[in-house]
Amino acid sequence: MAARSVNCPHCGKAVAWGPQSLFRPFCSERCRQIDLGAWASDSYRVPSAAPSDEFAVADISPTPRE
Ligand SMILES: [Zn+2]
Repeated sequence: MAARSVNCPHCGKAVAWGPQSLFRPFCSERCRQIDLGAWASDSYRVPSAAPSDEFAVADISPTPRE
């Protein structure tokens, strides 16, 4: 087993999960700042009650081809 790592939630870059990665799970301070900013300004508006109900119905529509 190699050292554990995670993927940066913002850019997907592999980040070593250890004390050397100061901004884990982000790869850098920049990604952390961007992601936190997006969360605060965008996702924060989502209501706590059933936030993904409409999306789930709209996006997941199994249409089998024949
Ligand atoms: Zn990143």
